[in-house]
Amino acid sequence: MSYWIITVGTELVTGLTLDTNSQHISERLGKEGFFCSRQVSVPDDVAAIAEVLNEALASCDGTIITGGLGPTSDDVTREGVAEGLGLKLIFKDDLKAYLDRWYSRFESFQDIVYRQAYLPEGTVEIPPTTGSAAGFCLDAKGKVVIVLPGPPGEMSAMLESAMPFIRARWAGGESYFIRTLKTTAKSESWLETTLRDIMVREDVDVGILAKPGEISVQLRVRSDGKEAVDRIMNEVEKEIRSRLGRLVFALDDETLAEVVGRLLCSQQMTLAVAESCTGGLISKLLTDVPGSSAYVKLGVVSYSDDAKINLLRVSPHVVKGYGAVSEESALEMASGIRRISSADIGVSVTGIAGPGGQRARKPVGLVYVGLEAEDRRDAWEYNLSGPRWVVRARASQVALDAVRNYLLDRAGAL
Ligand code: AMP
Ligand code: MG
Repeated sequence: MSYWIITVGTELVTGLTLDTNSQHISERLGKEGFFCSRQVSVPDDVAAIAEVLNEALASCDGTIITGGLGPTSDDVTREGVAEGLGLKLIFKDDLKAYLDRWYSRFESFQDIVYRQAYLPEGTVEIPPTTGSAAGFCLDAKGKVVIVLPGPPGEMSAMLESAMPFIRARWAGGESYFIRTLKTTAKSESWLETTLRDIMVREDVDVGILAKPGEISVQLRVRSDGKEAVDRIMNEVEKEIRSRLGRLVFALDDETLAEVVGRLLCSQQMTLAVAESCTGGLISKLLTDVPGSSAYVKLGVVSYSDDAKINLLRVSPHVVKGYGAVSEESALEMASGIRRISSADIGVSVTGIAGPGGQRARKPVGLVYVGLEAEDRRDAWEYNLSGPRWVVRARASQVALDAVRNYLLDRAGAL
């Protein structure tokens, strides 16, 4: 089933707000086998909404619209949908009652909020979950239209409420499934060459997608049945894994930090991080994972030489002799953070994120990762390219990957 996503909001088309709703919806519905064939953003404008909705209905099986359901007069999605489909807006008493309850918490509210009690005739209401606006589903010209509020939290909760309706209406027909193998391969071209014969297979569409520190192989299969899709996906995944081995670190949504967390948990190990050029990003990525307090003991941003020397006890001779960005400093930072935290593993990063800070024989992007554990003391040098945020993101990934590889070695994994 193919559908469009239409996001409504002048703030989206003027660049004030990034459209994250489309990403969430296409990812979520992708898991159900539904194919998003277009994403369009339009301003808060009745005619623009009406026009794009009709375009969508002329070319796909349905559309999901988000945004523009708020109480103020600039939110006109209800009117745009009604105009586009030639429907009347009907006042809904149950929604008015909900709005009375919702707004009674505020000292004063204006009657304008009752705009949210109107829905196009013939719609199935999706009750508000965390906000004031209701969403709605309707059948239009035999196609499905789902309209959801703009705030991402409200939208995603209501999308879940609409899933039974979407599944029921879009059941059967061709499905489109995606499986993503995330890798720490060094380059897209190497990956392409290694997988050349798989890339040209007829039964699966293979894409190579790069983000800083993470290159993914995306397998996309269109088919009438999920079983056939699974069979092809499993076969291709197995072949890719046999060629890439450990370079494949996760499937689909799982992050490298989650994988590291999973390995730490299963081996009952703890971790501490000493960061310089990544400025806390590694700690952030690790602690983004719920439950990470079970294995993250300490994270320190030792940005200055003083902090490296006084807090982590990196030898002043090492800092002066080899420099703060050196293999020796990285090793001592890893030892220092491990000692002061009593963690099983200490990992460190020191490098030059740029754009300034370049020194003789120390270019921007030069990064050292250090790791110390009971049975391992190692450091690695990287020359990472890109602007500051990219170098930092890449440095974080290589440090997490050093921990992952250590834990895989320890578990005797291939
Ligand atoms: P709205 O109900 O359209 O007025 O939107 C309410 C809030 O949600 C505003 O802060 C919007 O910027 C935000 N929002 C609306 N649409 C999106 C979207 N597609 N992606 C991310 N945020 C959005
Ligand atoms: Mg708005």
